[in-house]
Amino acid sequence: MLDQYGRNITYLRISITDRCNLRCKYCMPDGVTDVGMKNILTFEEIWEIVRAGVSLGITHVRITGGEPLVRKGCVDLIRGIRAIPGVETITMTTNGVLLRTYAASLKEAGLDGLNVSLDTLDFEEFASLAGRQNLKEVLDGIQAAKEMGLPVKINAVNRKELNPISLVLYAQQEKIPLRFIEMMPIGLGKKFETIYNEDILEELKKQYPDIQEDRQIHGNGPAVYVKLPGGQGSVGFISALHGKFCQYCNRIRMTAQGCLKPCLCYGKGVELKDIFDRHEKQQRCGTTMADQETLECLYQAITEAIQLKPKSHRFENLSEITEDKKMSQIGG
Ligand code: SAM
Ligand code: SF4
Repeated sequence: MLDQYGRNITYLRISITDRCNLRCKYCMPDGVTDVGMKNILTFEEIWEIVRAGVSLGITHVRITGGEPLVRKGCVDLIRGIRAIPGVETITMTTNGVLLRTYAASLKEAGLDGLNVSLDTLDFEEFASLAGRQNLKEVLDGIQAAKEMGLPVKINAVNRKELNPISLVLYAQQEKIPLRFIEMMPIGLGKKFETIYNEDILEELKKQYPDIQEDRQIHGNGPAVYVKLPGGQGSVGFISALHGKFCQYCNRIRMTAQGCLKPCLCYGKGVELKDIFDRHEKQQRCGTTMADQETLECLYQAITEAIQLKPKSHRFENLSEITEDKKMSQIGG
């Protein structure tokens, strides 16, 4: 479906839990509490929303969190989404800690690919950044996904401690696409110094002076790629801050609590869980709202969220950012 600026919205990101098994300092450090199971969408509700979304033009779904693999039944949820006619691809963003355990069943459930978040290859730094010593499990999880034939990409968020060369070398060795992501001023991210992708690229150029622009399309996201010399692979840059790509934005995001967000920057969203809660209340009172009516309400709500999509974010001006949710609730 087209929004009011002519962008075709085909991509739905779903945060299926705000819980996580890591405690990344810029996302969900110790002390951040979760919203509780009774406040998050059930699998049936998520399937219903995807069905409504598909009939409005959604073709790609990404599952995220919190950490999606900590939600019990995550694989069944994915299998259910995969079975919805019109869902062309379903992918997941994960920290990779539980990937070795789930790689085979994710593949069997029909997952099309994984983005694994990996900010450092240094064991001490990982523990300090993520609050847990799980780097070995993450690396092992990436291997397991590869063994299963699941396409993997690595995402690293820029921080001043980032060692881009080490990540490039690892990605080359593993033959995995790597993308650097500018830290966005959302949630705890506001407290971190902004490191622009331009600076990361400059650092890479010192090591690889013959880097070239890569015009090949990689996936359906906003990353811009460069080719390392001698066929040594590509590196992507997702530059939400200095390289605004809002005119190409094709996505809406749903929080674990069922708030459908038109844009990362703004708190305004459309509450989908209310629709199901209303339905349930009416059932209890014996005045059942027909399932068709629920579906109609979902169409209207999703349409409203798409039409509410602003022309662009305003991350450059902190006073205009109205989103106060954490990234662990939104899903990145
Ligand atoms: N737990 C999963 C993971 O870490 O991949 C999925 C959820 S996590 C919120 C999704 C992505 O958002 C991760 O790659 C994480 O690094 C990124 N992220 C979190 N806070 C961010 C911020 N302020 N700016 C940019 N990316 C952020
Ligand atoms: Fe958890 Fe992902 Fe947030 Fe890290 S970035 S705390 S792994 S949700």
